Amino acid sequence: TKYILVSGGVVSGIGKGVIASSTGLLLKTAGLKVTAIKIDPYMNIDAGTMRPTEHGEVYVLNDGGEVDLDLGNYERYLDVTLSKDNNITTGKIYREVIDKERRGEYLGKTVQIVPHVTNAIQDWIQRVSKIPVDESGVEPDICIVELGGTVGDIESAPFIEAMRQFQFRVGHDNFALIHVSLVPDMHGEQKTKPTQTTVHALRGLGLLPDLIACRLLGRQPLESSTKDKISMFCHVASEQVIGVHDVSSVYHVPLLLQSQRIIEYLHKRLNLASLNITEEWV
Ligand code: ADP
Repeated sequence: TKYILVSGGVVSGIGKGVIASSTGLLLKTAGLKVTAIKIDPYMNIDAGTMRPTEHGEVYVLNDGGEVDLDLGNYERYLDVTLSKDNNITTGKIYREVIDKERRGEYLGKTVQIVPHVTNAIQDWIQRVSKIPVDESGVEPDICIVELGGTVGDIESAPFIEAMRQFQFRVGHDNFALIHVSLVPDMHGEQKTKPTQTTVHALRGLGLLPDLIACRLLGRQPLESSTKDKISMFCHVASEQVIGVHDVSSVYHVPLLLQSQRIIEYLHKRLNLASLNITEEWV
């Protein structure tokens, strides 16, 4: 299984879920089996006990799991059936680690965030990514992992550290990172500083973005001069900078991403030729 982590910077609610689902949809269209995991870095075990004004609408899965609405996006975009384990929360991870500690399975060791919690996160992702999500019963080729919140939060720190380790666990060819950032428009000028700051923070935590998805709030697409500036200051090639402006329907986002050759990039980066990808896509 190959993994694509989708992280976010600057502010939450900028369309990380839609970008993650759209990337998954494009890979599925290219002939790959895609599954998804959503990480919500809160202490609640699930979204079921949170009031709707706090969390937004709760999505209920086939197995009764009460989860974030992003899982609904994944099920619709990817035509898959997910289970409650496809939604990881801090609460679920801690519960697992504490139960294991009570059973004495850490053999007298001091139980710590690193390595015990970070290992539990990585083991969970690897286990769930291999569960078939459609009638074929075949193990997925690609797992999209969406990390909720924004990079630099205290809440998401153990998950960021787990993913930093994970890139070595699974290898460079099997792990790519899409970082979603905000490019504010100030009276017609597209500002890159928030993106520079969040990419800097990400690199400081040991994660290097393969694609920087720049969300623009409004109908104005990302200008090529803005793209060049982000490429320059964030130390990526300009093909790695993707503009995502507002579109009339979120179901147009896959086309917007494809027009910027995101699958071609991921094909190279993740060596997708080793999988059964439909060649006309690349
Ligand atoms: P996040 O996962 O970052 O919290 P979501 O993917 O849930 O964000 O998107 C937040 C909201 O923005 C949703 O209501 C979604 O429909 C809307 N949205 C996301 N991307 C776009 C876009 N490119 N154009 C228009 N609306 C969008």
